[in-house]
Amino acid sequence: MMMDLVDELMRLFGSENVKFDHEEIEKYSRDETSGVEGEIPLAVVFPTSTEQVSQLMRWANERRVAVVPRGAGTGLSGGAIPTKNSVVVSLERMNRIIELDERNMTIVVEPGVITGEIQKIAEEHGLYYAGDPASSESSSIGGNVAENAGGVKVIKYGPTAFHVLGLEVVLPTGEVVHFGGKTLKNVTGYDMVRLFVGSEGTLGIVTKIVLRLVPRPKYAAVLLVPFGGIEDALLCVPKLLSQSGLLPASIEFMDRYSSEMASRFLNESIPNPEAECHLIFELESSDKQNLVKEYIELGETLMQMNATEVYIADDRTQRMKIWRFRKAIAEGIIAFRPVHCMEDVVVPTANMPKLIVSTYQIAQKRGLEVLNFGHVGDGNVHVTFLKPERMQNAVWEQALEEALEELYRTTVQLEGSLTGEHGVGLKRKKYLRMFLGEKEIELMKRLKSLFDPNNILNPGKIFPD
Ligand SMILES: Cc1cc2nc3c(=O)[nH]c(=O)nc-3n(C[C@H](O)[C@H](O)[C@H](O)COP(=O)(O)OP(=O)(O)OC[C@H]3O[C@@H](n4cnc5c(N)ncnc54)[C@H](O)[C@@H]3O)c2cc1C
Repeated sequence: MMMDLVDELMRLFGSENVKFDHEEIEKYSRDETSGVEGEIPLAVVFPTSTEQVSQLMRWANERRVAVVPRGAGTGLSGGAIPTKNSVVVSLERMNRIIELDERNMTIVVEPGVITGEIQKIAEEHGLYYAGDPASSESSSIGGNVAENAGGVKVIKYGPTAFHVLGLEVVLPTGEVVHFGGKTLKNVTGYDMVRLFVGSEGTLGIVTKIVLRLVPRPKYAAVLLVPFGGIEDALLCVPKLLSQSGLLPASIEFMDRYSSEMASRFLNESIPNPEAECHLIFELESSDKQNLVKEYIELGETLMQMNATEVYIADDRTQRMKIWRFRKAIAEGIIAFRPVHCMEDVVVPTANMPKLIVSTYQIAQKRGLEVLNFGHVGDGNVHVTFLKPERMQNAVWEQALEEALEELYRTTVQLEGSLTGEHGVGLKRKKYLRMFLGEKEIELMKRLKSLFDPNNILNPGKIFPD
């Protein structure tokens, strides 16, 4: 029966576009999420056009076969992990840049384009794609849209949703629909673009994306700021945001343990590696003198707020070096501490110091190791619990469960949310009820069944069993 389905897929899409050999497709049974087990799919289909995606969904809907969309598989919530007897649709071969419209400052792309490529092409045209997840060199824009990816430039430019103007989507029933377009404003009917962005591949498969580009900032400077105390560093963020009159493009945080991961991964060091933590600021301006004035003022203010030192990188090479370091933290964790749990809680910015400080107590109480890094300027921190080397698996699992419960309870008390950018997926669905009421969940489920009456598109994700 299962092999019959695979044969049908081969007939429909050709053997060059379907893989089913277990060894070859084993890597499609997981993403970058630690601790979430998947199934080897029945097959992986590699469409090259919207028509093929539509044909696949029509077939799957008729046969009631589950389909799991997949971009580059860098997800951190298990969203692209297949459930039993499902077919993975990998969008990696739909990777064309369709149009860059300089005058309207838009770019139209297929979902499999790697985000960093969009950034580069925009830059070559003197423009800027402001979506910048730390995985920009490896994640696809389709995955960014499905997760509403954030990253290191959210304070100033917003998450992916702020850059998406239009979408082409294949519905679970196979119909192709278009939402939005190239206009910056559009209130003709409901905002379907915003509904689909962040829907984690459960409502439809995104096959084309119209993205907004903005003018490229002429000058930028990155400030790397070590602190002797974590609380000092964290308390200055909301103060600076509300009182300095500046809107930095980024304010990132990494504690000492996080820096050690990046350092080990890159075999590189940063100034003051012994500091308890570092903040990273990026300022942008169209005027060089203005930028210098702003970073000097910011640096002085930070020194008054107990920073140990302020390092300024205002040439591109130095700036890139700092960002490369910051972006390597998650890769270091995945490489050196594979048994971990990377969280993605988000709280209103001013509540973030309390949240981060509490995580060290939550971990210590249970003998766990923890590190914190992330986008403190937008209240989003990747609290990461690590299994101590000698801890038995069963003890780790129990301690982790308790630690997560306490972390989420604290997040709720601080008016926060379960996930800021990584999504619910498989990893967090059992905690959804701590953050959403029954009515909200019911409305969301009704939306899901409106688009996907047979529950064939990415089933088992987001909603608790
Ligand atoms: C080292 C590292 C750093 C990271 N840093 C960040 C960060 O700073 N900010 C951030 O937000 N995330 C970050 N992530 C998480 C991850 O990169 C993002 O969630 C990214 O958006 C996933 O893109 P992807 O192409 O890998 O998607 P996948 O992992 O393949 O899929 C993710 C979800 O999108 C769905 N999907 C994929 N393509 C489509 C499509 N065309 N249509 C419909 N649904 C689709 C899948 O079903 C799944 O639910 C990081 C991950 C790693 C490993």
